[in-house]
Amino acid sequence: MTLKDKVALVTGGSRGIGRAICLRLAGAGAFVAVNYARNGQAARETIRLIGEAGGEAEALCFDVADHGAATGAIAALIERRGRVDILVNNAGESRDGLLVRMKEQDWDRVIDTNLKGAFNCSRAVAYAMMKRRSGRIVNVSSVVALSGNAGQANYSASKAGLIGLTKSLARELAPRGICVNAVAPGLIDTDMTSAMTEEQRERVLGEIPLSRLGTPDDVAGVVLFLASDEAGYITGQVIGVNGGLYM
Ligand code: NAP
Repeated sequence: MTLKDKVALVTGGSRGIGRAICLRLAGAGAFVAVNYARNGQAARETIRLIGEAGGEAEALCFDVADHGAATGAIAALIERRGRVDILVNNAGESRDGLLVRMKEQDWDRVIDTNLKGAFNCSRAVAYAMMKRRSGRIVNVSSVVALSGNAGQANYSASKAGLIGLTKSLARELAPRGICVNAVAPGLIDTDMTSAMTEEQRERVLGEIPLSRLGTPDDVAGVVLFLASDEAGYITGQVIGVNGGLYM
């Protein structure tokens, strides 16, 4: 799969799944804009790893939840590079809690980052993709969008919203040659899941038919496929990457 001469933007590319996606896309030949919100050092490490492997990338700092900041930074990227061919809406955060204890700010922040962030970035790339009559948008949802999860009402709702966004944009943008899909990872070994206790991990492992946590690269390989020419007849789909946790 080659992405030679393509320009990709990966939100939340500084760490975890986003970093693995950046490495895969750059490894296939794309120029990658590595977005991050706070952790410049981690973003620079992603860029160093890409450079070490012979790829090209730049860091792009903005909060995806901030409409003005996202629009401005992406317009400047399009100005510099001439286009964005691939957008991966990966940036995400969780602020877990049972419904009765969940603070309004925790609801708002998770929805704003995970769902509004994808709207902000998709809107910012859409016009340029429509003009070129080609493009790929891949949204990183979650298994809990489909299964639900106690203690994650805000997170599950944001990720289920991403699936609705994916299907609506797929219909809206298909006439302009743009494919929009989602991946729904299960439990992936990253900073986001590092707070789990050993007991919680063991319990979830017991429910995963493939008997292991996923790696960021398990997800990145599917995103690379969806971004490639080989996936040109796939749109509006949600691909589970969960070791069989949810079927
Ligand atoms: P992670 O290790 O916590 O990394 C999160 C990334 O998102 C970081 O690069 C972070 O940037 C960035 N980010 C967070 N808020 C942002 C904002 N407002 N604007 C821009 N960037 C922001 O998470 P992960 O586990 O790799 O998860 C990546 C995606 O996969 C998320 O959407 C997550 O919901 C989803 N997912 C994860 C799992 C899992 O088990 N890990 C399962 C299903 C879905 P900084 O470095 O600057 O903080």
